[in-house]
Amino acid sequence: MIAINNITKSFGKLQVLKGIDLTIGKGEVVSIVGPSGAGKTTLLQIIGTLDRPNTGSVHIDGIDVTSLSNKKLADFRNRHIGFVFQFHQLLPEFTALENIMIPAYIAGTSSSEAKQRASELLQFMGLADRANHKPNELSGGEKQRVAVARALINNPTVILADEPSGSLDSKNKAELHQLFFDLRDQYGQTFVIVTHDEQLATLTDRTIHLRDGELEQPETVEPSEQPVEGEDAVADQHSAA
Ligand code: ATP
Repeated sequence: MIAINNITKSFGKLQVLKGIDLTIGKGEVVSIVGPSGAGKTTLLQIIGTLDRPNTGSVHIDGIDVTSLSNKKLADFRNRHIGFVFQFHQLLPEFTALENIMIPAYIAGTSSSEAKQRASELLQFMGLADRANHKPNELSGGEKQRVAVARALINNPTVILADEPSGSLDSKNKAELHQLFFDLRDQYGQTFVIVTHDEQLATLTDRTIHLRDGELEQPETVEPSEQPVEGEDAVADQHSAA
């Protein structure tokens, strides 16, 4: 679960987020939409612990990530969060299989285990026969699916996607969207997707409208719905075991 409590963020004099309260349940597929400059990417970066809010807190899986040191944050991010960007950002000198394995290496997974998991993910993506292709030997849709597999290799609980289908044609777009729902059904991840794609937004479980740094329909969070420190983290450790 992701619990965002009254976060603000400014860049210099520009206040980009003006007090966001948002709760996203485990296994929810949520889209964030809004005009250019509304603060969508900034919000996603803060959820993804790539940036810190000026005030407020973000809890992910029961852990207050806003209070973690940079070193702990890097480890947390690598284990709990997968990122998918508009442009796949695959490393050109490595094969599809190797690209997917890289975050597992960084997390200290053995090479045989990383290879096994990467192969399973390629199979799930329908790309088993592309394992040894380098990015320039893959189509745009295939590259984006490899990028999704890479985001999944460490079994993150949360996948954050910023305009994931922005560079794809309509066929590949539809396949990528379907893939997110298949993955959620198969592995139970929470997806937060920033998009200008209205078709994708209507398909998600919930659409969050951000305008000028504020939610258009602010949430009212009951005190009893606030996360209990460590609760989800313990549950996740059990489910990972
Ligand atoms: P788009 O749909 O165009 O991608 P967005 O809703 O994702 O827009 P953000 O990227 O979050 O918007 O940016 C919100 C505002 O904050 C913009 O005015 C942007 O120029 C500004 N901004 C974002 N990052 C920085 C930064 N690192 N330094 C200064 N200003 C920034």
